[in-house]
Amino acid sequence: MAKFLTILFILLASNFNVFSQNSATSDFQSPLDIPLFLSGNFGELRATHFHAGIDLKTQGVTGKPVYSSFEGYISRIKIQSGGYGKSLYITHPNGYTTVYAHLDKYMPNVEAYVKSSQYKRKSYEIELFPPKEMFVFKKGELIGYSGNTGRSGGPHLHFEIRKTDGQIPVNGLKFHLPVEDRIRPEFRSLYAYSYPTEETVSIGGSERTMYNVRKKNDSVYYVDKVIECTNNYLGFGAEVYDFLNGSSNKCGIYLLQLKVDNIPRFMFQIDAISFVNSRFVNAHMDYELKVDKGKSVHRLFALPNNSLPIYSNTLDNGLLYLADDSVYHCEIVALDVYGNSSTLIFSCTSAANDNAIRTFPDYSTFVNWEKGDDFSIGNFSVHIPPRALYQDTYLSVSSMKGTGDVFSDTLIVCKETEPLHIGITIRVTIDTVKEYLEDKILFARLNGGKQISAEGGEFHNGVLSVTTRNFGKYIVTVDTTAPLIKPLSFRSGGRYNKDQNLIFKVEDKLSGVQSYDAYIDDEWVLLQYDAKSGTLIYTIDAERLEQGKSHKLKIVVSDAKYNRSEYENRFYY
Ligand SMILES: [Zn+2]
Repeated sequence: MAKFLTILFILLASNFNVFSQNSATSDFQSPLDIPLFLSGNFGELRATHFHAGIDLKTQGVTGKPVYSSFEGYISRIKIQSGGYGKSLYITHPNGYTTVYAHLDKYMPNVEAYVKSSQYKRKSYEIELFPPKEMFVFKKGELIGYSGNTGRSGGPHLHFEIRKTDGQIPVNGLKFHLPVEDRIRPEFRSLYAYSYPTEETVSIGGSERTMYNVRKKNDSVYYVDKVIECTNNYLGFGAEVYDFLNGSSNKCGIYLLQLKVDNIPRFMFQIDAISFVNSRFVNAHMDYELKVDKGKSVHRLFALPNNSLPIYSNTLDNGLLYLADDSVYHCEIVALDVYGNSSTLIFSCTSAANDNAIRTFPDYSTFVNWEKGDDFSIGNFSVHIPPRALYQDTYLSVSSMKGTGDVFSDTLIVCKETEPLHIGITIRVTIDTVKEYLEDKILFARLNGGKQISAEGGEFHNGVLSVTTRNFGKYIVTVDTTAPLIKPLSFRSGGRYNKDQNLIFKVEDKLSGVQSYDAYIDDEWVLLQYDAKSGTLIYTIDAERLEQGKSHKLKIVVSDAKYNRSEYENRFYY
């Protein structure tokens, strides 16, 4: 044990000089005036991206004052019905920009500027770049109120610090915010990925084995048996999370290092991640385990199509070649930004199997990740561009007879748990479509059972085509059903006052809500749309609506396949 502690000490002292290299400025103050508890941290593994900010809890409610973290000016305002919802970007003189997302409201002067722009463009979703001198804030000045807008799982403030140059998100916890973290990372499980020969290292579908992890003491975890590998090459994956004081949320790891017989073989450290690179998270983590089980498993070896610049100290890309039957002593150290660490120790060896021959199931197509491929099956054709896959992959492709209510056979191209970096194009020739259905036809994906999700597509000259980043089971169907508009908080003929909300629920079955507009007495008015809940809100606007009379309200909603619904009624203001 003493020896182990010495090693750990040397390790911490020599490799992980997170504090001495911490050049992050302490210019920034907390954007909230309540104690900071995190529900998410920087670099957390999400499906298709690394989390770019830190998620600050707002005591379960919206409307907490949000302050400018440092002096600066509003350089960008963006409003989306999904994504970041209502967001604000403040550019500072120190080379950084801070982003405040999922807001409920901006300051009144900013609200007024945004609203008049929305009326000018007749659009709720908007992106604005106000002139530098228009909205200037001192450090700690009120800029708005926290909310739950956009794709938010509950009230919180998503706070991001970016390098202004290139808009590159950086690890916000390195900026001395008042966050407390005295909790060590926790290992949950270990995965071993084995490959028979050097040639097959880049081929997907490697054999994956899970090992349970036990806790030895406060900081050391272990696997209680020797990992026996029947193949020759071995890579590792660790399911490991960080926790911060005052919150039970699983957060992401800042640094992981794999050592074999004390020699560093692979290190991951996340200080910054550009949006261009963020999608490579699909190669960094075990995507299948994320999608199927919600587990965050960091690979400690690099797949061929992984261009992330966050690895160092790599030897043989992190893969271990088991040359003989000796036992290899491995350790994985996990570290958070605050210097709390845990170590997982385990051993592995080669189980005698000289002629390990890899047999693959009866796959239809082998695709080289650098070259991509084109192939056809029945009326379908599939184009996989170069670098769409993260590794060479044996793709299972087949088709099944269609049923009466779909317009094609079912195309099964690989499975939805296989990640794609860029879109593949699927085309199908259809010669039986009635003309009036031509703009209603689309691809949908079957998600087990009867549940289908729209993938869209364009129909030209008898061919429906779509570019998608999802593998899976594809059918062709039509969307002829218009969206449904239901009043949630609106009474026909009712009396309403200034600032009251008229709320409607909108639902669309397949292709999804594409446009939404409201008119009062035939003049366009602003509707706030929240995609996650399907709600449309009109707020009685005393500045724009004449008082003391009966008004006609009309709402028009269309889906992506040009099906249109109208709702019309009267109210009094
Ligand atoms: Zn967030």
